[in-house]
Amino acid sequence: AAKAESRQKFKLYAPAMSEQLQLRLELERELQQAIANDELFLMFQPQIELQSGRIYAIEALVRWMHPQRGLIPPNVFIPIAETSQLISDISGWVLEASLQTLAALRRKYPDLYVSVNISAPDLLTPDRLHQQIQRLLHQYNLPGNALELELTESIFIEHPARVSATLESWQQQGIRLAIDDFGTGFSSLSYLLDLPLDTLKIDRTFVKNVHTNGRTKGIVETILSLSKNLAVTCVAEGVEELAQLNCLSELGCYAVQGFFLASPMVEHQLMEFLAEYDADSIAHHSISQPLS
Ligand code: C2E
Ligand code: MG
Ligand code: MG
Ligand code: MG
Repeated sequence: AAKAESRQKFKLYAPAMSEQLQLRLELERELQQAIANDELFLMFQPQIELQSGRIYAIEALVRWMHPQRGLIPPNVFIPIAETSQLISDISGWVLEASLQTLAALRRKYPDLYVSVNISAPDLLTPDRLHQQIQRLLHQYNLPGNALELELTESIFIEHPARVSATLESWQQQGIRLAIDDFGTGFSSLSYLLDLPLDTLKIDRTFVKNVHTNGRTKGIVETILSLSKNLAVTCVAEGVEELAQLNCLSELGCYAVQGFFLASPMVEHQLMEFLAEYDADSIAHHSISQPLS
């Protein structure tokens, strides 16, 4: 009877938790097959230089088209991959698919580069990533500066010393390095002293209220002046409105990315977008509607 009772109790207290855990385990198992089953795909979002309106880079964003569950966003499956050793295969797949698309695009847009999100666990096995990047750049006949890697601040909190050697070797090959979601990582700014960075990406939580909240605007101004002093490029993420764009432009932000300018697109949509894109409409502030 005691046994039956304890089983009952377990049932009473555990269902919500166990359902979540169950789903996670199922997703983890299904994710193991996702690459082989060709269920991952990329979308690309343009990055636009504010002064000229030029599209100079695209960010690769991975999605999982699950045969039964439908479209699963990266915020759901990347964290699962990060804690289950699947991330290294996924990052490898993303790098390959990104550089393949970029190589095709560069026939028409020779200066374009692609920005790829890298996870903290990828840097635990930097040699593997390094060899893969070497092989891919060679295979697609691309220079190092055709690729930017986006890292988050957490990487420097978790393993600071090891990381800087890896990043330096990448930078020597011309590979660009960006800090993603800058300003949200609760990390010391001291890592900025030692690392060979090219870009800071201002997190979209700051961009959201930059035009309506003086304190937010102050933070954005501070990040912009920090990036000027460090001689790095600054990109504002998540620009959804003209008012935000105008404000960032007045503050002297170098570049923007966001739904207002262009949403993430699959390769063929991106090709059409680029073919029709008119840089002058941005440069002369003559847009009032989202472009895509
Ligand atoms: P992130 O690197 O900060 O990427 C930007 C995210 O903001 C993307 O979400 C993009 O679709 C979204 N976004 C772009 N413009 C706007 C806007 O105007 N408003 C709003 N509200 N959102 C905007 P997505 O594609 O869902 O990706 C979410 C996160 O998942 C990414 O954030 C990145 O950290 C991670 N992720 C995406 N692809 C990869 C990948 O290939 N590898 C790894 N490790 N992480 C990835
Ligand atoms: Mg990113
Ligand atoms: Mg990211
Ligand atoms: Mg970001």
